[in-house]
Amino acid sequence: MVGWRALVPIVAGLTSAVMVAGSGAVPAAHAEPQPAVSQPAVPEPAVSKLVVSQPAGLDQKVVYLTFDDGPSEYTTRVLDILRRHDVRATFFLIGANIRQHRALARRVFEQGHSLQNHSWSHPDMRGLSWPAFKRQVLDTDAEIRKQTGYTPQCLRPPYGAVDKRVRKRAAALDKRLRLWTVDPRDWARPGAKSIARWTLKQVEPGGIVLFHDGGGDRRQTVAALPKIIKTLKARGYVFHRLWCG
Ligand SMILES: [Zn+2]
Repeated sequence: MVGWRALVPIVAGLTSAVMVAGSGAVPAAHAEPQPAVSQPAVPEPAVSKLVVSQPAGLDQKVVYLTFDDGPSEYTTRVLDILRRHDVRATFFLIGANIRQHRALARRVFEQGHSLQNHSWSHPDMRGLSWPAFKRQVLDTDAEIRKQTGYTPQCLRPPYGAVDKRVRKRAAALDKRLRLWTVDPRDWARPGAKSIARWTLKQVEPGGIVLFHDGGGDRRQTVAALPKIIKTLKARGYVFHRLWCG
């Protein structure tokens, strides 16, 4: 867990609740859809983290809950909990998984959450050719747009694997990178209590918390969520979405 406080200062204070429908150009043809990959098996070590600043003048305690690697069978349970607690969050989706769970992707959107881009098949994007990089991003954009009319503006590269080239390429595709500041390591399944304890210990105003609703058995994440949300509310936090617009 090197570099807890971050290597790349990027302001992520994008708290606009406005949904932008159908923005962005349709990607150029990039044939050859890749095989569906629903289970990114490798855990997500934090290669780098972003510092998040509060938007000027906002004196609320804001936190961003984010969920990676879905949609999956666990997404429904996450959505139910978020709805019960009237909380909005951000889902970084895998394009190939949307193909398998289209209705779920629509439900995420219809419940008012932000859908953003987490690549098509969860590769380390540092090692990709430019055409492959484009396909990973634009095919996922297209799949999200097909289900919702919304084109993602945030990109979260798998594993948080970001280098200078990934930054440059993301910018060329008009994407803003958004990683996280709090990783309770739910992907390692340390137990629901540990996930809750770690999250609640680390969250500070402006924090972005990394959870997973896909990529494996997420029962622990689901079990930890209600306590995390209730405690953060009791501490005065409000829950915002990432838009990157
Ligand atoms: Zn991921």
